[in-house]
Amino acid sequence: MPELPEVETVRRGLAPVMEGVRIAQAHVNRPDLRWPFPDRMAERLTGARVERLGRRSKYLLAELDRGETLLVHLGMSGRMLVSGDPLGRFVHAHPAPEKHDHVVFEMETGARITFNDPRRFGAMDLLPTGGAHKLLDVLGPEPLGNDFHEDHLVQAFKGKMTPVKAALLDQRIVAGLGNIYVCEALFRAGIDPRRKAGRIAATRVAGLVPIIRAVLEEAIAAGGSSLRDFKQADGELGYFQHRFDVYGREGEACRTPSCGAPIRRAVQSGRSSFFCAACQR
Ligand SMILES: [Zn+2]
Repeated sequence: MPELPEVETVRRGLAPVMEGVRIAQAHVNRPDLRWPFPDRMAERLTGARVERLGRRSKYLLAELDRGETLLVHLGMSGRMLVSGDPLGRFVHAHPAPEKHDHVVFEMETGARITFNDPRRFGAMDLLPTGGAHKLLDVLGPEPLGNDFHEDHLVQAFKGKMTPVKAALLDQRIVAGLGNIYVCEALFRAGIDPRRKAGRIAATRVAGLVPIIRAVLEEAIAAGGSSLRDFKQADGELGYFQHRFDVYGREGEACRTPSCGAPIRRAVQSGRSSFFCAACQR
């Protein structure tokens, strides 16, 4: 499932193909993904120029010159493929259409952007630029933005009796953090994911802020190198190899020098937490 760094990597890959470019033709091949598409979506997108491609949490936001913004959520299995870009950044021939190519943008430059999503947990919607949207209105501060700071997190955790893992996954407290990067950040901070958020000393909570930023920034940097290798790849954006310290490493040795204890897995709110019981208290 794509998390914030994967979505940011997709944004960085799409921006040079979309920004300042008109969508010559939008094809919408089915009525819905997770939710129905907005009315006449293909017509509203065809001919529109993309002014700016932004991101909020795990949503891509393409601001159009018509006063509307296209919101794209990759969901569980959504993929963006770029082909035929005449700018020479992506030199992949247009592939034959596939079964799960649900939305296709033919850009005026000749580039083609394909949204493929076998499981259809993704979403697209149109909203007035700068306007409210049910998916955006509930979001807390961006983890890499100025509103996510030490005081904010300390206040948000105050009196909270939920585990710190659940608190960090709460999108109202910080937007866009998912299971993988919460596991990694808690490991680096030495905090047990099962510990109650409100019972952790304020200095340790404050210390989580720069760690969360660093974990995300390192993953985004890894995604950036995957984009540079793109001419050899197949035109798919956003998935890349990244080394995790705990995520997916149950039973393997902790990487802390002089530790080496086996990484443990615990299920919390239906999701796996990976942690080192020796290093994380
Ligand atoms: Zn350890």
